[in-house]
Amino acid sequence: MFTRSGTSPAQAPERTTGPSDPPPRRGTRLRTVVVALAAGTALIAGLVFAARTVLRDDDGDGAARPSGGVFVTAKSSGKVIGEGSRPRRFEVQVEKGTGVDPERAAAEISAVLADKRGWTRDRRHSFRLVSDGPSDFQVKIATPATVDEICGKAGLDTHGEVNCDAGTQIMVNLKRWNTGSPEFSGPISGYRALIINHEVGHRIGHGHEACPGKGKRAPVMMQQIYGLKGCVANEWPYDAKGRYIGGPAVP
Ligand SMILES: [Zn+2]
Repeated sequence: MFTRSGTSPAQAPERTTGPSDPPPRRGTRLRTVVVALAAGTALIAGLVFAARTVLRDDDGDGAARPSGGVFVTAKSSGKVIGEGSRPRRFEVQVEKGTGVDPERAAAEISAVLADKRGWTRDRRHSFRLVSDGPSDFQVKIATPATVDEICGKAGLDTHGEVNCDAGTQIMVNLKRWNTGSPEFSGPISGYRALIINHEVGHRIGHGHEACPGKGKRAPVMMQQIYGLKGCVANEWPYDAKGRYIGGPAVP
């Protein structure tokens, strides 16, 4: 609160004679030149900074993406997983700045594909992790903004939340990879298996499936993140005995 007679802290102190006084009149012209030069330099620096800022934000979402969508490919290559005669070659790529270790992610994804409840159970499909050369598909773990951008170009709306299968790219939303889904109560490793099995399922030709009945296991090709419709969450295409866990095809 201010009072009429009081002095506001913002008020300038009264001027007194001292070392900070203006210099004698003789130096005024020189000082004007120096000030003008300094102002010019500041203006140029400002313009350069502005130009750099514009270039950095040229793609419109520079602030939302820590690395501008730069991916690092896992260097490890694996042996063939499964018995299919023509292994599908896949790469694992992680967007820079996400904090996900590409090698660990590649090992985790390979283990999902190699699991006896996974797609290789049918003995028709096989996969091989590669780090260069041609690949049939790429599993990319990226920030929600980058996932939206890449999936959006394929005409899919991932709205910062979900994964997608775009061309040869399996786009995994970092949020899902790290935190799972409210519809999935198991450990994060289970949810990661669901992500991989669902999207790889699309790569090998499977469409969406619905819940086959109350209390039954949800098919891996069901979009479980949008609700279980009475089913129980499940991340594997096959059960331990090798029976396919399916449901009615979604048109
Ligand atoms: Zn799907």
